[in-house]
Amino acid sequence: MTPITDLAVRIEQQLPAELADFMKSAGNMAADGGEKLYLVGGLVRDLLLGEANLDIDLVVEGDAVALARRLSAGQAGKITIHHRFNTAKLQWRKWTVDLASARSEHYPRPGALPSVKPGQLSDDLFRRDFTINAMAVALAPQSYGQLIDLYGGLDDLEHRLVRILHPKSFTDDASRIWRAVRYEQRLDFQIEPETLGLLRRDIPMLDTISGDRVRYELECIFKERSPEKAIKRAGELGVLAKLHPSLTGNGWLADRFDQARRISFPDQKLADLYLALLAYRLPDDDREQLVSYLRLPKTLARTLRDAGAVRAHLGEMANTELRPSQIYHLLGGYSSEAVTANLLAGDLPPARRNIQLYLEELRSVKPVLAGRDLIDMGVTPGPGIGEALRLILDARLDGTVKTRRDEERLVGEWLAEKSG
Ligand code: ATP
Repeated sequence: MTPITDLAVRIEQQLPAELADFMKSAGNMAADGGEKLYLVGGLVRDLLLGEANLDIDLVVEGDAVALARRLSAGQAGKITIHHRFNTAKLQWRKWTVDLASARSEHYPRPGALPSVKPGQLSDDLFRRDFTINAMAVALAPQSYGQLIDLYGGLDDLEHRLVRILHPKSFTDDASRIWRAVRYEQRLDFQIEPETLGLLRRDIPMLDTISGDRVRYELECIFKERSPEKAIKRAGELGVLAKLHPSLTGNGWLADRFDQARRISFPDQKLADLYLALLAYRLPDDDREQLVSYLRLPKTLARTLRDAGAVRAHLGEMANTELRPSQIYHLLGGYSSEAVTANLLAGDLPPARRNIQLYLEELRSVKPVLAGRDLIDMGVTPGPGIGEALRLILDARLDGTVKTRRDEERLVGEWLAEKSG
């Protein structure tokens, strides 16, 4: 097979016309200023693979901020500039383009932020994670569409390999360990044998990066079509154990992830549910270690804790005699992702039936009458309002009231009883 070296046609075919036109004119504009512009990163890989991707990352051998300003002058959009990194983001209509100045990076010690200085395209590609992500496409008018493959990315794409660019890559930035696993599993590639050896050797280096960065990589995994594949592989390689030694990415978890996608309640965050499932079997102390290691935001930490709390009450939830209103009050205070985690992962089938009833029906039940209506009916403002609201909510849940008239009658009886 002749290697593909001209991507101009693919750009036309695979990208929306507006983006393709933008890239062409951006290449021209850079050339007018005596600078060379390139398309880089994941989109180049995906153009070659024929995969959909609209994340445009551009690198200019020159001043990205100045070029972004010139580009945005012709485009009615928004521009966000990060002077510190000499990068800019252009946004117009539904499109976003990232623009950076070519740079070289040096890691003073493992896991540290790199020191950065202006460089050439070859430096900018060399600082990247894997050869398949380290290709570029020229956007200058004379060479528009030419593939620039300095580190063997095309060959690795053809052989379906994830390969680092140099032996210190994982020590420089151990988040690449998680990234290697993610790309391998997403693309159905293999981590190249030498890279795999270095990855295994450098697993202890995961201790050199912050929990925030690990959390970011996990979030990326949870956005994948089948995150369970990367979690399982991370388990086999001993990467998952670095999150917490008790975590496993076995078939049980894979089934739960699959069900999580199928069930997917629109008000819930799938990524939060995945994490709650991953942590589901951890004892309280271990879960707390994970929460603080990943520096989880409050709501997500609460979801993990709630999942444990609901799990601790599964015995109670398994009582088949429970009235709907009792189920509602047992589960009502917990994050709904935590409740769903128990539906998918809880051990007791009768409890799961009650949880399902709660999630699918009970949690959206509301009385018709509001506080205002109750006051109009003669309920004294204050705690009595809450009491009456709960009374009609419970009656609705248990099916003993169905209409507004029923609710009014119930409140009337309750008022009469109170005054009598
Ligand atoms: P995706 O691969 O998830 O479709 P992407 O390839 O655009 O998206 P990003 O995470 O947006 O990946 O990063 C953009 C590019 O930056 C990558 O293609 C890679 O070249 C480079 N990159 C990102 N993270 C790292 C890292 N930790 N080390 C080196 N290079 C990185």
